[in-house]
Amino acid sequence: MTIFEKIIAREIPATIVHEDDLCICFHDISPQAPTHLLMVPKKRIVRVGEAEAEDKETLGHLLLMAQEVARNEGFLESGFRVVINNGSDGGEAVPHLHLHLLARRKMSWPPG
Ligand code: 5GP
Repeated sequence: MTIFEKIIAREIPATIVHEDDLCICFHDISPQAPTHLLMVPKKRIVRVGEAEAEDKETLGHLLLMAQEVARNEGFLESGFRVVINNGSDGGEAVPHLHLHLLARRKMSWPPG
């Protein structure tokens, strides 16, 4: 069981800002921006590289929920960055797909 499944199961606490049938969104424990949220599917898709055709609805839902959370949390207009780290070179630490939503500071490019 990953740390995110424990958060979904309420076995460990998190500051949750959105939850529905398919996903949950909560604050990252180690924020890299003034607002740093994680959007996680309840079904454990390990990473983008292991997603399957049957995950299509969940994957689309995550992006639309990112938009909804950005609107609800008040950073839709100012902008935000969505990041998915995939595998070793991608910097993935938790093997359960998650979108990082980073907001309320100017992001640079290219990413580190
Ligand atoms: P990754 O590097 O896999 O893309 O991102 C994993 C993220 O999970 C990191 O940003 C890290 O700070 C966050 N994280 C790790 N453990 C916990 C935890 O117990 N609670 C919360 N809210 N975030 C966590």
